[in-house]
Amino acid sequence: MLIAGNWKLNKTLKETKDFFKEFNKLVSKTQNMILVCPSFPCIPAAREYALKKIFIGAQNVFFEEKGEFTGEVSVSQLKSFCDFIVLGHSDRRNKFSESNELINKKVKAAMKSNFNVILCVGETLNERNSSKTNSVLEEQLTKSLSGVALKKLFIAYEPVWAIGTGKNASKEDIIQAHSFIKQTLTKLFGEKGKKIQILYGGSVKPENAKEILSLPNVDGVLVGGASLDPKKFAEIANHKK
Ligand code: PEP
Repeated sequence: MLIAGNWKLNKTLKETKDFFKEFNKLVSKTQNMILVCPSFPCIPAAREYALKKIFIGAQNVFFEEKGEFTGEVSVSQLKSFCDFIVLGHSDRRNKFSESNELINKKVKAAMKSNFNVILCVGETLNERNSSKTNSVLEEQLTKSLSGVALKKLFIAYEPVWAIGTGKNASKEDIIQAHSFIKQTLTKLFGEKGKKIQILYGGSVKPENAKEILSLPNVDGVLVGGASLDPKKFAEIANHKK
Protein backbone atom coordinates (compact mmCIF):
# COMPACT_ATOMS: atom_id res chain seq x y z
CA MET A 1 0.00 0.00 0.00
CA LEU A 2 1.26 3.47 -0.84
CA ILE A 3 -0.12 6.21 1.39
CA ALA A 4 0.81 9.50 -0.25
CA GLY A 5 0.29 13.04 1.03
CA ASN A 6 0.09 16.06 -1.26
CA TRP A 7 0.63 19.21 0.77
CA LYS A 8 -0.07 21.53 -2.21
CA LEU A 9 0.74 25.17 -1.36
CA ASN A 10 0.86 24.68 2.41
CA LYS A 11 3.43 24.66 5.25
CA THR A 12 6.48 26.81 5.93
CA LEU A 13 9.89 25.40 6.83
CA LYS A 14 9.08 25.51 10.54
CA GLU A 15 5.71 23.85 10.00
CA THR A 16 7.43 21.12 7.97
CA LYS A 17 9.87 20.39 10.83
CA ASP A 18 7.06 20.45 13.42
CA PHE A 19 4.98 18.06 11.31
CA PHE A 20 7.71 15.42 11.13
CA LYS A 21 8.59 15.77 14.82
CA GLU A 22 5.11 14.48 15.59
CA PHE A 23 4.44 12.31 12.52
CA ASN A 24 7.67 10.26 12.76
CA LYS A 25 6.68 8.95 16.20
CA LEU A 26 3.22 7.98 15.04
CA VAL A 27 4.26 5.93 11.98
CA SER A 28 7.45 4.26 13.18
CA LYS A 29 5.86 0.79 13.03
CA THR A 30 3.76 0.93 9.87
CA GLN A 31 4.36 -1.59 7.08
CA ASN A 32 2.90 0.70 4.41
CA MET A 33 4.97 2.86 2.10
CA ILE A 34 4.50 6.49 3.12
CA LEU A 35 5.16 9.43 0.82
CA VAL A 36 4.99 13.15 1.62
CA CYS A 37 5.07 15.77 -1.15
CA PRO A 38 5.80 19.28 0.21
CA SER A 39 6.26 22.38 -1.93
CA PHE A 40 9.75 22.79 -3.45
CA PRO A 41 11.47 24.96 -0.75
CA CYS A 42 10.46 22.55 2.03
CA ILE A 43 11.61 19.38 0.25
CA PRO A 44 15.20 19.38 1.64
CA ALA A 45 13.95 19.92 5.20
CA ALA A 46 11.37 17.17 4.78
CA ARG A 47 14.15 14.82 3.62
CA GLU A 48 16.25 15.82 6.63
CA TYR A 49 13.54 15.55 9.30
CA ALA A 50 11.40 12.65 8.06
CA LEU A 51 12.22 9.10 9.11
CA LYS A 52 14.44 7.46 6.50
CA LYS A 53 11.66 5.04 5.55
CA ILE A 54 9.34 7.91 4.58
CA PHE A 55 9.59 8.76 0.89
CA ILE A 56 9.66 12.40 -0.16
CA GLY A 57 8.23 13.61 -3.45
CA ALA A 58 7.72 16.73 -5.55
CA GLN A 59 4.36 17.98 -6.78
CA ASN A 60 5.62 18.94 -10.23
CA VAL A 61 8.77 19.21 -12.39
CA PHE A 62 9.78 20.72 -15.73
CA PHE A 63 10.92 18.51 -18.60
CA GLU A 64 13.99 20.51 -19.70
CA GLU A 65 17.29 20.08 -17.88
CA LYS A 66 18.53 23.68 -17.90
CA GLY A 67 18.23 26.99 -19.70
CA GLU A 68 15.92 29.95 -20.01
CA PHE A 69 12.91 28.61 -18.11
CA THR A 70 12.41 31.11 -15.32
CA GLY A 71 10.62 29.71 -12.29
CA GLU A 72 10.95 26.06 -13.31
CA VAL A 73 12.69 23.16 -11.53
CA SER A 74 14.45 20.27 -13.29
CA VAL A 75 14.52 16.57 -12.62
CA SER A 76 18.23 16.60 -11.67
CA GLN A 77 17.70 19.45 -9.20
CA LEU A 78 15.24 17.18 -7.37
CA LYS A 79 17.34 14.05 -7.55
CA SER A 80 19.26 14.52 -4.26
CA PHE A 81 16.11 14.96 -2.19
CA CYS A 82 13.24 13.11 -3.81
CA ASP A 83 12.11 9.64 -4.78
CA PHE A 84 8.75 10.47 -6.33
CA ILE A 85 7.20 13.11 -8.59
CA VAL A 86 3.46 13.72 -8.83
CA LEU A 87 2.43 14.76 -12.36
CA GLY A 88 -0.82 15.78 -14.00
CA HIS A 89 -2.57 16.74 -10.75
CA SER A 90 -5.92 18.38 -11.53
CA ASP A 91 -4.61 21.65 -10.02
CA ARG A 92 -1.90 21.61 -12.69
CA ARG A 93 -4.30 20.58 -15.46
CA ASN A 94 -7.10 23.00 -14.57
CA LYS A 95 -5.46 25.99 -12.87
CA PHE A 96 -2.20 26.02 -14.87
CA SER A 97 -3.60 24.69 -18.17
CA GLU A 98 -1.28 21.68 -18.37
CA SER A 99 -2.17 19.55 -21.37
CA ASN A 100 -1.73 15.80 -21.70
CA GLU A 101 1.06 16.55 -24.19
CA LEU A 102 2.99 18.65 -21.66
CA ILE A 103 2.40 16.09 -18.91
CA ASN A 104 3.71 13.41 -21.28
CA LYS A 105 7.02 15.28 -21.67
CA LYS A 106 7.30 15.58 -17.89
CA VAL A 107 6.52 11.88 -17.35
CA LYS A 108 9.25 10.94 -19.84
CA ALA A 109 11.82 13.25 -18.22
CA ALA A 110 11.05 11.95 -14.71
CA MET A 111 11.13 8.30 -15.78
CA LYS A 112 14.39 8.75 -17.66
CA SER A 113 15.92 9.79 -14.33
CA ASN A 114 14.43 6.78 -12.62
CA PHE A 115 11.90 8.62 -10.46
CA ASN A 116 8.74 6.95 -9.25
CA VAL A 117 6.02 8.84 -11.09
CA ILE A 118 2.47 9.25 -9.79
CA LEU A 119 0.34 10.25 -12.77
CA CYS A 120 -3.01 11.75 -11.74
CA VAL A 121 -6.09 11.33 -13.88
CA GLY A 122 -9.74 12.11 -13.25
CA GLU A 123 -12.91 13.58 -14.67
CA THR A 124 -14.70 16.84 -13.77
CA LEU A 125 -18.29 16.84 -12.54
CA ASN A 126 -19.54 17.99 -15.95
CA GLU A 127 -17.69 15.17 -17.66
CA ARG A 128 -19.13 12.62 -15.20
CA ASN A 129 -22.65 13.99 -15.62
CA SER A 130 -22.38 13.71 -19.37
CA SER A 131 -21.16 10.08 -19.14
CA LYS A 132 -17.66 10.95 -20.33
CA THR A 133 -15.72 9.52 -17.35
CA ASN A 134 -14.26 6.55 -19.24
CA SER A 135 -13.39 8.49 -22.38
CA VAL A 136 -11.65 11.22 -20.31
CA LEU A 137 -9.66 8.64 -18.33
CA GLU A 138 -8.70 6.80 -21.51
CA GLU A 139 -7.57 9.99 -23.24
CA GLN A 140 -5.56 11.22 -20.22
CA LEU A 141 -3.82 7.84 -19.81
CA THR A 142 -3.18 7.26 -23.51
CA LYS A 143 -1.82 10.74 -24.24
CA SER A 144 0.10 11.28 -20.99
CA LEU A 145 1.77 7.88 -21.36
CA SER A 146 2.33 7.94 -25.11
CA GLY A 147 5.76 6.54 -26.02
CA VAL A 148 6.68 6.06 -22.35
CA ALA A 149 9.11 3.24 -21.60
CA LEU A 150 7.43 1.86 -18.51
CA LYS A 151 9.47 2.02 -15.32
CA LYS A 152 8.24 3.01 -11.87
CA LEU A 153 4.71 4.26 -12.47
CA PHE A 154 1.69 4.67 -10.20
CA ILE A 155 -1.67 6.07 -11.31
CA ALA A 156 -3.81 8.18 -8.99
CA TYR A 157 -7.52 8.25 -9.86
CA GLU A 158 -8.71 11.60 -8.56
CA PRO A 159 -12.21 12.61 -9.63
CA VAL A 160 -11.90 16.40 -9.75
CA TRP A 161 -15.27 16.92 -8.06
CA ALA A 162 -14.06 14.96 -5.02
CA ILE A 163 -10.81 16.87 -4.45
CA GLY A 164 -10.87 19.23 -1.48
CA THR A 165 -14.68 19.20 -1.48
CA GLY A 166 -15.34 16.74 1.33
CA LYS A 167 -17.34 14.61 -1.18
CA ASN A 168 -15.63 11.35 -1.86
CA ALA A 169 -16.58 9.07 -4.72
CA SER A 170 -18.89 6.17 -3.88
CA LYS A 171 -17.52 2.63 -3.56
CA GLU A 172 -19.11 1.79 -6.91
CA ASP A 173 -17.58 4.83 -8.65
CA ILE A 174 -14.12 3.91 -7.36
CA ILE A 175 -14.42 0.21 -8.25
CA GLN A 176 -15.66 1.05 -11.74
CA ALA A 177 -13.00 3.69 -12.46
CA HIS A 178 -10.09 1.63 -11.09
CA SER A 179 -11.17 -1.39 -13.10
CA PHE A 180 -11.41 0.74 -16.26
CA ILE A 181 -7.95 2.23 -15.58
CA LYS A 182 -6.51 -1.29 -15.13
CA GLN A 183 -8.04 -2.39 -18.46
CA THR A 184 -6.65 0.68 -20.23
CA LEU A 185 -3.17 0.18 -18.75
CA THR A 186 -3.29 -3.46 -19.87
CA LYS A 187 -4.21 -2.32 -23.39
CA LEU A 188 -1.30 0.14 -23.35
CA PHE A 189 1.41 -1.98 -21.70
CA GLY A 190 0.24 -5.63 -21.80
CA GLU A 191 1.06 -7.79 -18.75
CA LYS A 192 3.28 -5.06 -17.26
CA GLY A 193 0.32 -2.68 -17.32
CA LYS A 194 -1.68 -5.04 -15.10
CA LYS A 195 0.87 -4.63 -12.33
CA ILE A 196 0.77 -0.82 -12.17
CA GLN A 197 -0.56 0.24 -8.78
CA ILE A 198 -3.59 2.52 -8.69
CA LEU A 199 -4.22 4.99 -5.87
CA TYR A 200 -7.50 6.72 -5.10
CA GLY A 201 -7.57 10.43 -4.21
CA GLY A 202 -10.41 12.76 -3.28
CA SER A 203 -11.37 13.73 0.26
CA VAL A 204 -9.70 10.69 1.87
CA LYS A 205 -9.87 11.00 5.66
CA PRO A 206 -9.24 8.68 8.62
CA GLU A 207 -13.01 7.95 8.69
CA ASN A 208 -13.26 6.65 5.11
CA ALA A 209 -9.71 5.38 4.40
CA LYS A 210 -10.31 1.85 5.70
CA GLU A 211 -13.25 1.24 3.38
CA ILE A 212 -11.54 2.81 0.36
CA LEU A 213 -8.33 0.85 0.91
CA SER A 214 -10.27 -2.42 1.08
CA LEU A 215 -11.76 -2.02 -2.43
CA PRO A 216 -10.51 -4.14 -5.36
CA ASN A 217 -7.69 -2.56 -7.43
CA VAL A 218 -7.08 0.14 -4.81
CA ASP A 219 -3.37 -0.06 -3.97
CA GLY A 220 -3.14 3.10 -1.91
CA VAL A 221 -4.42 6.65 -1.52
CA LEU A 222 -3.33 10.17 -2.42
CA VAL A 223 -4.38 12.49 0.39
CA GLY A 224 -4.55 16.29 0.27
CA GLY A 225 -6.16 18.11 3.21
CA ALA A 226 -5.88 15.29 5.75
CA SER A 227 -2.15 14.86 5.06
CA LEU A 228 -1.46 18.28 6.63
CA ASP A 229 -2.37 17.02 10.07
CA PRO A 230 0.18 14.57 11.51
CA LYS A 231 -2.42 12.68 13.59
CA LYS A 232 -4.94 12.32 10.76
CA PHE A 233 -2.32 11.36 8.19
CA ALA A 234 -0.72 8.85 10.59
CA GLU A 235 -4.11 7.25 11.19
CA ILE A 236 -4.44 6.70 7.44
CA ALA A 237 -0.81 5.64 7.05
CA ASN A 238 -1.13 3.02 9.80
CA HIS A 239 -3.97 1.24 7.99
CA LYS A 240 -3.66 -2.55 7.98
CA LYS A 241 -5.24 -4.48 5.13
C1 PEP B 1 -5.23 15.96 -3.62
O1 PEP B 1 -4.63 16.97 -3.27
O2 PEP B 1 -4.77 15.29 -4.54
C2 PEP B 1 -6.46 15.58 -2.91
C3 PEP B 1 -7.01 14.44 -3.21
O3 PEP B 1 -6.96 16.47 -1.97
P1 PEP B 1 -8.07 16.19 -0.83
O4 PEP B 1 -7.65 14.91 -0.12
O5 PEP B 1 -8.00 17.37 0.08
O6 PEP B 1 -9.38 16.03 -1.52
